[in-house]
Amino acid sequence: MKAGDILVIGIDLDDTLVETTKEANKKMWENEKYKNIKDFHMLNKKEYNIFLKKHIKSIQENANLKENALKVLNWLKENNVNIVIITARGSKNFDFLIPITDIYLKNNKVPYDDIIYRQTVKGKTCKKYNVDLFIDDKEEVLDDINKYGIKVLKMNNNQENSKYITVNNWLEIKQYIQDNFNF
Ligand SMILES: [Mg+2]
Repeated sequence: MKAGDILVIGIDLDDTLVETTKEANKKMWENEKYKNIKDFHMLNKKEYNIFLKKHIKSIQENANLKENALKVLNWLKENNVNIVIITARGSKNFDFLIPITDIYLKNNKVPYDDIIYRQTVKGKTCKKYNVDLFIDDKEEVLDDINKYGIKVLKMNNNQENSKYITVNNWLEIKQYIQDNFNF
């Protein structure tokens, strides 16, 4: 970014800003049959699809924001940083999640400047919105963004290996931004 430009931070929703998997697992464990399954992503394809179809609305309405996320986003806005949410939500047959997400963000007082839905691949959109730094939990999403020369941070939910700088929580995101950008 050039001196005087506004800093643009891009963020993913599910498992970066919002505790989607935690909420989904909680929902799954309500069913005795799935008590021993560690993570809903481990359901077989058929069961996964049935589970999501049935519960995704309630999962996305009820999932908590990650700890300190709101505090850090408000701090960014106080410093005139642009916040762009880029999410896969709304893809395929999940259009109905768009209004649910709009309401969720409003109810939770999440500050943002733009939201772009249906983005399973995000590099091109990051470029279009002049994103300086993008935070996501998926390595393949970051790979595509990184191709455009954009800085990325990996939200590390499961201690998996990454070729990128990883953060474990929103306070670490704040620290990284303070260390790497002047505003
Ligand atoms: Mg995600």
